[in-house]
Amino acid sequence: MIDIPPFEGFSFNYYRKLMAFALDNFNLKTFRTWDEKQPHIIQVSPPLLICHNIDVSLEKAIDLAVLENEMEIKTTYMIMTDSLLYNIDDVQSKINIRKIKKLGHDIGLHYGKNRIDLDMIETDCTLLEQISGSRVYSYSVHRPALIKLCMDCKPERGRFASHNASLLGNYFSDSRGIFRWDRFNKVWENRKDCLTQWLFHPIWWSNDSNSAQKNLGNHIKNELNQLSLKEVIPYLQSLFITLPGVFS
Ligand SMILES: [Zn+2]
Repeated sequence: MIDIPPFEGFSFNYYRKLMAFALDNFNLKTFRTWDEKQPHIIQVSPPLLICHNIDVSLEKAIDLAVLENEMEIKTTYMIMTDSLLYNIDDVQSKINIRKIKKLGHDIGLHYGKNRIDLDMIETDCTLLEQISGSRVYSYSVHRPALIKLCMDCKPERGRFASHNASLLGNYFSDSRGIFRWDRFNKVWENRKDCLTQWLFHPIWWSNDSNSAQKNLGNHIKNELNQLSLKEVIPYLQSLFITLPGVFS
């Protein structure tokens, strides 16, 4: 049995250790394979859902998708249809979304609007289905204010709200680039009580550095190098809007 790997920073090296730990100790599920009607299996073989919210970059998502594929792990990549930082109508974005799917992962919706509207969610999911050529089984919300509202959202047309209360009982997230080690341990200890969900944002992880903020900084530097002068300010504004609190 692989022990819980002590936090070493937001490096791919550490992410691999986390995935090896997950493979060894959990029954990995996606929203496609999770059967909420089988609570008894939690005691015998603790299920784990691993999800990714793609707020900033589809390219960064590909990095994790490849790494997980190498370890034969399937997760869910929640993609925004209205991101300020990538455009799913771009040819390259479509190629990237299909690549994530091809690597064995599921595509979900990362819903960015400021109110819960099931018709809009349906429209966005359908759009992602057209691009990815595969069913969208889940959605997450980008705005923290909507998380509470989502706790009551029942699966609609077979699409899970990842923030539904039944999926949040034992939940860990690297939000804001912070890895709360005590929280991660608590989630591990509680694995036999209910479904476990880990949420990782690909933007925090990299080959280069162990600090999420440094990894983000390197990504921004790379992006700025490719922009014209007049594109710089709008890009930075979009970052501030998309990642509130990170730069304060
Ligand atoms: Zn988000």
